[in-house]
Amino acid sequence: MKKQHKVFKLQGKVQHYAWGGASYIPQLLHLDNPDNKPFAEYWMGAHDNAPAQLVDEDGSVLSLNEYIREHPQESLGTYTTGRFGRLPYLLKILDVKDMLSIQVHPTKRNAELEFAAENKKGVALNASNRNYKDDNHKPELMLALSEFYLLHGFKPEEELLEVLRSVPELAFLSPVFERKGYQEIYRTVMEMPQAEVNRLLQPLVDRIVPAYQAGQLNKEEEDFWAARAAVTYDDGGKIDRGIFSIYFFNLLNLHPGEAIFQDAGLPHAYLEGQNVEIMANSDNVLRGGLTPKHVDVPELLKHVRFEATHPRIIMEDSGPGRIAVYHTPAPDFELSKLSLLQGESLTIRAHSVEIFIVLEGKIGVIEPGVAPYGRKRGEAFVAFHQAKFEVKAQEDAVVYRAAVPAGAL
Ligand SMILES: [Zn+2]
Repeated sequence: MKKQHKVFKLQGKVQHYAWGGASYIPQLLHLDNPDNKPFAEYWMGAHDNAPAQLVDEDGSVLSLNEYIREHPQESLGTYTTGRFGRLPYLLKILDVKDMLSIQVHPTKRNAELEFAAENKKGVALNASNRNYKDDNHKPELMLALSEFYLLHGFKPEEELLEVLRSVPELAFLSPVFERKGYQEIYRTVMEMPQAEVNRLLQPLVDRIVPAYQAGQLNKEEEDFWAARAAVTYDDGGKIDRGIFSIYFFNLLNLHPGEAIFQDAGLPHAYLEGQNVEIMANSDNVLRGGLTPKHVDVPELLKHVRFEATHPRIIMEDSGPGRIAVYHTPAPDFELSKLSLLQGESLTIRAHSVEIFIVLEGKIGVIEPGVAPYGRKRGEAFVAFHQAKFEVKAQEDAVVYRAAVPAGAL
């Protein structure tokens, strides 16, 4: 790699998880998908399992994680090197066709303690019963690119009581909730023997699945997703207990351009749609159902925050200029949106490592001393610490930018 420039084309990595759609990401990346493979996620980051590739002027490539390891100061800058020692975030595009598992992420402090404890116990990093893959927290911001459905934290009390009273199969939980609150109803359904889960949920499944299959339910109601979960996770008579949670949690429909933040302890599940997601660089996930994978209930219960969530939709903060920021409290990342009309240009200074992806239109990237090049929809680039360059819209363009929050620098 030549040292004189600091902005490189970047090629991410596709993850073909089974829940992904077969067309959105291939179209975005201008790829054919003749075998109809699922394209679930497109990763732009330096995660060792799927690092993005830098592409130099002469076409040579190098992994982003290797480059950062070899040149931490030049790529990250002093602050980010000192505080994080690596690229602190991972930027992704997701296409959710089938719902994902319900999950919760630990706090930074708990992740450090639990990761060390599992190491001490000698549980292999890749063991199926390993809960903590690293010592980091995993706050997440997601920005809807389409109509997007998700579960997000416990419903406020009144709303949850109304649901428990109106769904006959869940009525037994309303006195439990009234007396003992969120923790007790959640513990009740998560620790219940499977035979009991089946006995309680079978009548619900028998009632809603035919309506779902006849197209009589809509995506604004919990019954729709509960029925879809029953069909998706039909595991030979074992009904997935995550179906209870679909009624406990806020069911949200985000419209394109709306974002939401998920901090440690907040249970959530993505149900359907496309989004841009940015998160701290971690793989620590505790699952709570809607999955064929093992659910470690005692571990899960340790990390769930048992409280009402009043969802806060984050709209872009359209400050001066053409850069709008989606603010969160996370110190690890900041997502912003650059909107440029054809012919407009913008000078960018990178204070630490920044990753960009064009979602609409086409831009030119102009860095002194380097031949300018174009980036169109689906194409990414990375700018390292102290890069100074210009982007110029060759067509009306929308570009998403991942950075380390300026307040922290
Ligand atoms: Zn998550």
